[in-house]
Amino acid sequence: MENHSADCIFCRIIAGEIPADILYRNDHVLAFRDISPVAPAHALIIPLEHIASLSDLSPDHLHIAGQIMLAAGRVADILGVRQSGYRFVFNSGPDALQSVFHIHGHLLGGTGMGWPPF
Ligand code: C5P
Repeated sequence: MENHSADCIFCRIIAGEIPADILYRNDHVLAFRDISPVAPAHALIIPLEHIASLSDLSPDHLHIAGQIMLAAGRVADILGVRQSGYRFVFNSGPDALQSVFHIHGHLLGGTGMGWPPF
């Protein structure tokens, strides 16, 4: 696995060392249910490659960034929220309360939501 970090909990989920409720996997991304859901449908979509945060993406990561976005619709289908709607949120850095430093998009749905989100 490219760039695997033994210290990273999401790299360890990818490696099968830590259990997770896996929803979808392809050659580029993995999606699993968030262990502490904040919505009826709450999944995380992560790249198989270890990249710490959105701010660490470079033009070299264009393909993987696209794969993450493409997977959102697929996972929304799997969770049954594609028609009703969903959000795809990336927390990056302290103000956004990022707590796991392996890029992950939160796919949130299954309920009406408000805006703004703070
Ligand atoms: O965006 P942030 O970094 O705060 O989100 C990390 C997310 O990872 C949390 O929602 C947390 O519940 C989830 N998580 C998980 N499984 C783990 C560890 C964290 O789903 N083993």
